[in-house]
Amino acid sequence: MQILLMGPPGAGKGTQAGNIAKEYSVPHISTGDMFRAAVKEGTELGKKVEACMKKGELVPDSVTVGIVRERLMKDDCKRGFILDGFPRTVEQADALSKILSELGISLTSVVNISVPTEDLIERAVGRRICKKCGATYHVKFNPTASEGVCDSCGGELYQRADDSAETMKSRLSVYEESTRPLIEYYKKAGLYVEIDGRQSIEKVKNDLFDALRRD
Ligand code: ADP
Ligand code: ADP
Ligand code: ZN
Repeated sequence: MQILLMGPPGAGKGTQAGNIAKEYSVPHISTGDMFRAAVKEGTELGKKVEACMKKGELVPDSVTVGIVRERLMKDDCKRGFILDGFPRTVEQADALSKILSELGISLTSVVNISVPTEDLIERAVGRRICKKCGATYHVKFNPTASEGVCDSCGGELYQRADDSAETMKSRLSVYEESTRPLIEYYKKAGLYVEIDGRQSIEKVKNDLFDALRRD
């Protein structure tokens, strides 16, 4: 089960990847989460990527491909994985296919969560994340029972530094320019499935599981 989950910023990739990882017991590999952890820990990698993330630009391909390569070589990926937020450029997609062929595996599904641009800013700006367990909420679309407190662990919620309307504008234009072309890329490879991400979280989840069962 080698799944690739695509979609614009704020589409719901992280939310859904979490469900899939639990259901299929495979690691959820999010380059965004890996970069944020590095920034928080103040590692060399963190220092390299912080400025790009803050501006809503992409981290250079060489850096991104390097960390994904290292991650996919780990033993826990032998039973499969779900990639969220990688690849984001054609160069990254080519590099991924090289890494997978070195490992003697290939992608089983490529699913795109499609959401119109006009909904994405509201999704990102209202996103709240638990400091302790990483659960993702939304102030309007997926609120916690008690404001600012995680339902599942009681942790404090925070807002990502790049989830402002301003930074979202650059993230969305980067998406259009560099990442949207991957839709054609994977269509040509015969691997592409699209899901309507305007539906409720639950409905998207059901459609996603249906699509994965078909593969
Ligand atoms: P991504 O990883 O693609 O950036 P997230 O999974 O973090 O997206 O979701 C972005 C925000 O939108 C979060 O606040 C999340 O709770 C919310 N969200 C996710 N899926 C939906 C949905 N189907 N409808 C409404 N809001 C959603
Ligand atoms: P979202 O899906 O909501 O846009 P992510 O958490 O996936 O957010 O990514 C946050 C930021 O991390 C991106 O705006 C970018 O700066 C960096 N990043 C994440 N994944 C990649 C990638 N594959 N290539 C380059 N930069 C990336
Ligand atoms: Zn929590």
